[in-house]
Amino acid sequence: MKLKIAIQKSGRLHEDSIKLLKECGIDINNGVNKLKTEASNFPLEVFFLRDDDIPQYIEDGVADIGIVGENVVLEKQKQVNIVQKLGFGKCRLSMAVEKSFDYTGVQDLQNKRIATSYPVIVADFLESNGITAEIHEISGSVEIAPGIGLADAICDLVSSGSTLFMNGLKEVETVLKSEAVLAANHNLQPAQQQLLDKLLFRIQAVKKAKN
Ligand code: ATP
Ligand code: ZN
Repeated sequence: MKLKIAIQKSGRLHEDSIKLLKECGIDINNGVNKLKTEASNFPLEVFFLRDDDIPQYIEDGVADIGIVGENVVLEKQKQVNIVQKLGFGKCRLSMAVEKSFDYTGVQDLQNKRIATSYPVIVADFLESNGITAEIHEISGSVEIAPGIGLADAICDLVSSGSTLFMNGLKEVETVLKSEAVLAANHNLQPAQQQLLDKLLFRIQAVKKAKN
């Protein structure tokens, strides 16, 4: 019996995910371009995937657990358990408008066009604020949308804000605060649950040692 974990293949969460497993004393050799590997000293199988696909794999039980941004878990609306916040991959999903936009509050988004890769979370935010707006889903380079006349506002992930600044935008609303989380399938077999508990125990020890 092995515990199957999905982590990001490459990108912002990849290195910290591997580092966390290493700090938990788990040795994995992640050769370049490998899609799958096994730990040598823990019954763990590691799948390298695009972060967008991780919630689905966990829901389906193809992976038992995974490391992914909370923002992705919420956007994908898959049935998974968030079992532990991991303290890395911190960012926020924010609304931004052009610097010249005289923004005074969410009501200024009424009837505007908003470009985002997070249509579900944005629709939810607008609804809870009583705003009607047009959501344009785009998959990348969201921050150029206002400059090319595609949108009046964007909703995108921000950490330092420098990308927004470089594109002549200003952040006006925080929609969501996010960090990497450990998510798990809802119906783990007892053996998998035991392995997860063992892993969680180590993760918590690592976190404690850092504080
Ligand atoms: P993939 O190829 O796996 O689909 P991606 O391009 O969608 O990767 P990344 O940019 O690598 O994703 O970001 C992965 C996660 O890192 C985000 O979903 C988010 O949780 C987190 N993150 C932390 N800071 C930032 C940031 N400044 N911008 C974007 N994502 C961030
Ligand atoms: Zn992605």
